[in-house]
Amino acid sequence: MSDIIRRDPRAEWIARNRLHPLHAAMQPAQHSWMGPNGVIRKNLHGIGFIGPNGIKRIDRSGAQQGGAVKRSAAVEVQLPLHQVPAPAFYICVVPDMVGGRLSSHDRDLLGLAHQLAGTDGAVLAVVFGEHKESAFETAGVDRLLVLEGDEFSGYAPEQRVQGLRAVDNQFIPRHWLLPDSRSGGGELGRRFAAALGERPATRVWQVKDQECIGRAGAGLQDLARPVARLILAAAECAEPVSETRHEALPVELSTSVARSLSRIEDLGAVAVDPGAIPMAEAEFIFSGGNGVKDWALFHETAAALGATEGASRVAVDDGFMARDRQVGASGTWVTARVYVAVGISGAIQHLQGIGACDKVVAINLDPGCDMIKRADLSVIGESAEILQALIEAVAAYRNDAKRDAA
Ligand SMILES: Cc1cc2nc3c(=O)[nH]c(=O)nc-3n(C[C@H](O)[C@H](O)[C@H](O)COP(=O)(O)OP(=O)(O)OC[C@H]3O[C@@H](n4cnc5c(N)ncnc54)[C@H](O)[C@@H]3O)c2cc1C
Repeated sequence: MSDIIRRDPRAEWIARNRLHPLHAAMQPAQHSWMGPNGVIRKNLHGIGFIGPNGIKRIDRSGAQQGGAVKRSAAVEVQLPLHQVPAPAFYICVVPDMVGGRLSSHDRDLLGLAHQLAGTDGAVLAVVFGEHKESAFETAGVDRLLVLEGDEFSGYAPEQRVQGLRAVDNQFIPRHWLLPDSRSGGGELGRRFAAALGERPATRVWQVKDQECIGRAGAGLQDLARPVARLILAAAECAEPVSETRHEALPVELSTSVARSLSRIEDLGAVAVDPGAIPMAEAEFIFSGGNGVKDWALFHETAAALGATEGASRVAVDDGFMARDRQVGASGTWVTARVYVAVGISGAIQHLQGIGACDKVVAINLDPGCDMIKRADLSVIGESAEILQALIEAVAAYRNDAKRDAA
């Protein structure tokens, strides 16, 4: 078995959150520990388990105690299943699905949809084309409608609006929710609103007491209005679903979607120099800190990955990186989908700057540092060795892709 330490941030979050219903299940069973004056203390009440007839049983074979040593956060938890057999109404969500997966913004929207659906409504997610997502159930999707076909792939907002209109005719959702993002949702939502003749509520960050509150006036004011049928919501508009499992039952359109006469020609993605992308807009940041010992190798790895380079303040102060690359409280606050921190300890000023990043990967020697605690994926080891291995893995991946294409 591999000795790579794999972490489950959600389980760890539940273990820290005393109000979570699964909190108790996530606690390590600690029966003995060293007290402040060096004496070993034992909690005899904690040993054993309550049997089916309510009597406490103690397994003296040691198997039970042995099992308790395992990290309980790794225990597979079966969340309660939320079912809506006959939905009274639908709340439709159109996630961005950047890279074919639900983003954290999409998950916030699904959380908001459940807030609006209550117990009688069902949350219907409408997804265009192929996707790679396997966690619709735990993200809160009660019904899943995948609109397949080449006509929806790439940049095709007109055709997507046609698809959404067909969904609107069939399911007559009580509310439509789209992410007010630059990844497609913001534009699609506004086009769809125009097609429906609805006035959308935009940049919504809260829905409460039959009102939705959105940002206005260049982000300086809040605008409250009655809950609109079409809501374009900002990230963190609601807590994502985390305590229930959902059915994600597939549904289909009963009619075919009309083909729109497109006035847009998608010429495909344009290759850009990752270094020229402003830090605040970069989607993939490869950031180096005091733990980077070979800066030439660091730049080589960033180029191989096609990532935008970032840095901690120490790396900037030491002259290894330009000042405009500094990430953090006194640098740039970034919103990357993937942030790789190489040899960065995770000082609070640095963590503030990456608070909005979606996935954080940490490469560090110290398994106890704060960056590892923040990270979704951690690689513990010497940075130079890991960067070298990364370059080789990228080269092997590209060679395989070329061979497959040939
Ligand atoms: C007012 C103020 C504002 C600040 N603003 C910012 C800011 O905007 N941005 C910012 O980043 N900092 C800021 N700082 C500084 C911040 O407090 C930290 O000092 C800084 O972030 C630390 O940078 P670092 O993690 O690169 O270095 P260190 O704290 O030295 O951490 C180096 C890390 O590298 C690891 N490491 C060492 N060798 C290796 C190796 N060979 N392989 C792998 N890992 C290794 C270590 O385990 C350690 O975790 C600010 C400080 C103040 C007081």
